Amino acid sequence: MSLKVNNKKASDDQFNQAADLIGLDEEVRLSLIAPDRELMVEVPLRKDDGSIQSFRGYRVQHNNSRGPFKGGIRFHEEVDLDEVRALAALMTWKTALVDIPYGGGKGGITVNPNNLSVLELERLSRRFFRSIDPIIGLNRDIPAPDVNTNAQIMAWFMDEYGMMNGHTPGIVTGKPIELGGSLGREAATGRGTAIITRESANFFNLDLSRSNVVIQGFGNVGSYTAKFLDEMGSKIIAVSDVNGGLYEPDGFDVPSLIEFNSKNRTVKGCGQGSAISNEKLIGLECDFLIPAALGGVIHKMNVDELNCKVVVEAANGPVTPTADKKLFEKNIHVVPDILTNAGGVTVSYFEWVQNLQQLQWDESEVNEKLEKKMVSAFEEVSILMEQRKTSMRMAAFAVAIDRVAQAYALRGI
Ligand code: GLU
Repeated sequence: MSLKVNNKKASDDQFNQAADLIGLDEEVRLSLIAPDRELMVEVPLRKDDGSIQSFRGYRVQHNNSRGPFKGGIRFHEEVDLDEVRALAALMTWKTALVDIPYGGGKGGITVNPNNLSVLELERLSRRFFRSIDPIIGLNRDIPAPDVNTNAQIMAWFMDEYGMMNGHTPGIVTGKPIELGGSLGREAATGRGTAIITRESANFFNLDLSRSNVVIQGFGNVGSYTAKFLDEMGSKIIAVSDVNGGLYEPDGFDVPSLIEFNSKNRTVKGCGQGSAISNEKLIGLECDFLIPAALGGVIHKMNVDELNCKVVVEAANGPVTPTADKKLFEKNIHVVPDILTNAGGVTVSYFEWVQNLQQLQWDESEVNEKLEKKMVSAFEEVSILMEQRKTSMRMAAFAVAIDRVAQAYALRGI
């Protein structure tokens, strides 16, 4: 059974509920729901042994009413057109919610990058970027990292684009610092998640410095979220990655956990905590449960096990719509992905601005601007949530859709 939550039907349902909330016109609704453009490409790869393997790649441009399409590119074996479509739409709402001048897009290749050598990964990345070249551009569509893609892959993308079109650092964000990446970009999604968790704690009357936190996923987002929440005084009592989970009721020594993880690319064997299954981890009693890996991990089969006060969606689409409804009924708050993890694309925007101006901001400047954006988005969402007595997800969608609809109306067709 596929528990894939990131499908266009599910995201359309959420869109429609929020559109009802703000009384959005039917014609505008139909136009905003449909992706503007979809590109599907075949990406042949010359393997190290000389054989050729073919992969499927995608770039979906959902909406650009507020600015160029913006969003990551993921490499994962479960990527398909429907998922990329749903994720592209989420980007439109995310960029609108934090009020940065972008639309939304997403891309991906259906591949397990762990099965490729570094050279194969480079050839595949370059070939893919060449295939989507006709529709991307500095003021058209600006890709970035997502699941299983990173600064190195962005460097290859930028280099490939530069060979065809001239040196254009702003064509992708999330680049290495040496190539025009922004200070603070790598940590931005985790930093933003921690800021939103802190704001949620205040809003829901929870004491962050006495809170217990469970983080599922310890990649870029999960590990930086742990770092910043630990610094804010929270106790991180459980973490997990693809190799399994660890439970430490007294709280992990987070700096050494992060150090171990960055050397070994896993938390397994770090010498802290005891092993715990993923099912048990999700059911641990805690204040904040933070899914920070893939979509669909909280679903109708395990939602009743949850024992947290707030779910903070650091991943894109970690709670299925059915589970979301259940959580609302059970009064477990869900802080939605388009708010929680918007720190990444926000600092992507700062990176792009720095590239356009050909200068570099201090990290403190980046972090201050990020803090402002996240706090003001949280405020807008929480005010609407109280006014409309709705879920935080619906309030976030409503703020975002309203902003896109206004731009759409002003531009005309
Ligand atoms: N992939 C990230 C996201 O889902 C970042 C996108 C970007 O920086 O453009 O928000």
